[in-house]
Amino acid sequence: MQRRSFLKGVGAGAIVAGTSPSLFGMEQYQVDFNPKSYKNETGVEYHYLTCPRNCRDACSMIAEVKDGKMVSIKGDPKHPLTQGTVCVKGHTYAMHLYNADRIMYPMKRVGKKTEGKWERISWDQALKEIAAKLTEIKEKFGGEALTEFVYSGNEGHISKTIAPGNFFEKYGATRLVRNPCDWPRYAGTPSVIGTDFSKDALEVDESDMYISWGSNESYTAVHWVRFAHRVKKRGGKIVVINSVRVPLANQADMFIQLRPSSDPAFCLAVCKVLIEEDLYDHEFVEKYTMGFEDLVHECSLYTYGELSAMCGASVDQIKVFARLYANAKAPAIMHGDGGQRHFNGARLVRAVTFLPVLTGCLTKLGGGLFWAYVHVKGCFNFENCMPDLSPKDANGNKIERQVISYIEFGKGIQKEGATYLDKPVPVPIKACINYNSNLMVTAPNTNLIKKRVMDDDFFLVVIDPYDIDTCDYADYVLPGVTFMESEDIQNDQISGYVCYNAQSVKPLGEAKTNLEFFNALAKAMGYTEECFDWDSETVCRKFLDTEFAKKQNITYEKLKSVGWIKPFRTPETMKDQFPYYPYAPKDKLVFGTESGKAELYSKTFKDAGYHPVIDLKDDWDYYKEHKDFGESYLKKYPLYFMTPGTQLQDNSNWGNMPYIVKRVIVKGNAELFMTKEDMQARGIEDGDTVEATNEKGTAIFTAVETSQMKPGICYAWNNIWLKVTKSRTGANFLCSDGVSDLGNGSTYTASFVEVRKAAKQEM
Ligand code: SF4
Repeated sequence: MQRRSFLKGVGAGAIVAGTSPSLFGMEQYQVDFNPKSYKNETGVEYHYLTCPRNCRDACSMIAEVKDGKMVSIKGDPKHPLTQGTVCVKGHTYAMHLYNADRIMYPMKRVGKKTEGKWERISWDQALKEIAAKLTEIKEKFGGEALTEFVYSGNEGHISKTIAPGNFFEKYGATRLVRNPCDWPRYAGTPSVIGTDFSKDALEVDESDMYISWGSNESYTAVHWVRFAHRVKKRGGKIVVINSVRVPLANQADMFIQLRPSSDPAFCLAVCKVLIEEDLYDHEFVEKYTMGFEDLVHECSLYTYGELSAMCGASVDQIKVFARLYANAKAPAIMHGDGGQRHFNGARLVRAVTFLPVLTGCLTKLGGGLFWAYVHVKGCFNFENCMPDLSPKDANGNKIERQVISYIEFGKGIQKEGATYLDKPVPVPIKACINYNSNLMVTAPNTNLIKKRVMDDDFFLVVIDPYDIDTCDYADYVLPGVTFMESEDIQNDQISGYVCYNAQSVKPLGEAKTNLEFFNALAKAMGYTEECFDWDSETVCRKFLDTEFAKKQNITYEKLKSVGWIKPFRTPETMKDQFPYYPYAPKDKLVFGTESGKAELYSKTFKDAGYHPVIDLKDDWDYYKEHKDFGESYLKKYPLYFMTPGTQLQDNSNWGNMPYIVKRVIVKGNAELFMTKEDMQARGIEDGDTVEATNEKGTAIFTAVETSQMKPGICYAWNNIWLKVTKSRTGANFLCSDGVSDLGNGSTYTASFVEVRKAAKQEM
């Protein structure tokens, strides 16, 4: 029987057997999607939307809605940063909204986990039963037996933080450290310049050199590419520094292909040129830095040849780059996440930060460092929306709660021997609510996670618009909304806009927003706090209720009517975030470090056991020196394995779109990109089905020959849905769940595998 005809008329209480696709019921919502302009038609409503994915650009978009249906969604041409252009994914949002794979009703598992037997139930029943189970777990094991799994499926502050936060605080759940991105940055950059905030990306329009470093903006942050092109148009240069020949490298004046995680050796070599050829800014270095002599000494310890051998760039490339960089007026380093998902992530970020300090370009308009962390703190009042609901002891003091992390989620939830940062997690995790994320696809070390979530005593609730892989392991699957059905406020991460997102269409089927769901669950649990009655408008108003927002005229009404507002930046409003130009005059420069200077010598790094200036150890050193791995591990698994993002998905978002599945799945499986040399050495040909293996497990891929990397390195796109592959395996079966040196960030990019031709070849 056809899935859709079978589902017509399925009511609450009916059992739906078979594989998990039978969760869906979209037929009655199919609309003609016609991307024509509806401008001149009557009855068309317009709404401002903000793309909530974590590509960080936060495109402003305008939805056209007719008779309650989304008929068109386009980029907002007036937005200064995104300028009306969305990426290849953003163009598909109407399709995304009305995807036939939407979950429309609450479903309860009636078979074994992964068996795919479900019963449609009412929201009332779902909430009652989930609340009863969570109450039982809390009474038996304590609040910390529950945790969340969440990341960037929706970056709206209500959806991601406020709505779930109030519920989990009241319950007293284990806290989740959300550390897939940026955490090494939070330790590395402040160790030099005392802040982890990036400069405003719009400044790059004043730059004369665009340096893409550890980033593939053509795929993952498309608006950055425009900045690169405009630099070039103005006569400036584009340089790409990456281990992979990313598309922008083909348009660059210079492409420097570093050995993965060897960036500190490259930076030290560049510092050596700047110092030896007297290309650094003497005045800046003397007045505003500390530890310069230590850096000079460190440079003297290595020859260019030695540093070149460590990093893979030729001596000539190192010197040419250093001179170009020093002679540029305002060179902008655009530093991506790929450049920090290593075991030496914080040390790597620290080393990169030396370059704009030595040349003094950090304090020039358009020069310095840019990454995805522009904050608009003063505009938002989280406290006002998130009252203190945390459980207290007899004296009224907050009870400290255990934490586990996203990156170590598998380790954190094990029945026995659960850990966080190698320390025991005392209260075993018995339950999890997965929202705005896809546990089985996005967290590293899938087998370890599977091992626990398959247990009958692991209670899993998933709320999502789609039948994600994690649903297969759930006890209850609840229909969630897309951002198009949910009002929210967020901010972009590269320029600092406050962005509004309207509920442009009503939730489809029986879908609920995260705010509606968590509030309803709180009530079903018997929680009576006022915050669980708030609707999205109330939360938005409370959220914007700050002195700063008032001064800047950032109000709910205004945001609704214009879509986005950029707070006006002054030295006063920005002083906590930017102690340097453009918010501090050069003669008043004080960095937020202990010494008040840019620290080329870091006591923090020394105390943590790392080199206080620039530490040259890379991922290979980490594995060689670690007690669980060693030299023999690298002999057994010699291929460095990276997991970058494809242009067709944003993390696992869009992973079920039919047109994307067609492009990311080859011969039934995801692709593994390998060099000709590595393929020949293993008797593998382009298109062969291969098994990639390490101590975490095996994943099946289709081999694709490429010359984008140097031999010894391979990669697979991250977060391809398992259920669209024949093997139901993927990159996260193999990627590292270790944490970086400082900051406890992810090391997705720092894994090793061996690959061989599979016995069974897919045709
Ligand atoms: S994923 Fe990024 S570029 Fe694409 S629409 Fe969303 S914010 Fe814009």
